[in-house]
Amino acid sequence: MNQQAVAIISGGPIEGFTGGWAKFPFSGQRTHYWVDRDADYRAVMDVRSDMNIYESLCDVAGYTTERAPALHEGNWPRCKHCNKYRRMVNASVVTNIDGMFP
Ligand SMILES: [Zn+2]
Repeated sequence: MNQQAVAIISGGPIEGFTGGWAKFPFSGQRTHYWVDRDADYRAVMDVRSDMNIYESLCDVAGYTTERAPALHEGNWPRCKHCNKYRRMVNASVVTNIDGMFP
């Protein structure tokens, strides 16, 4: 059995990230599919001006900053739950992502 370790490496920062598959700093060991929720959070709480807040399709909140931007997926594994929801969106089972966030 091959026990050789494979380094998991994120890609570089995503310029102008507005949502989609990405590795966020401090977001665990998988990439998630992120949806921009910044305006929604700012409407109800104080958010640092350099932060941008997202929610994943699997309902994890995450944020990026200038110093901790969204990263290309590299070879991180994708979150299974996000992948499932994403496939539903692709198949037009879910046509409105906003409807998934009550
Ligand atoms: Zn996820």
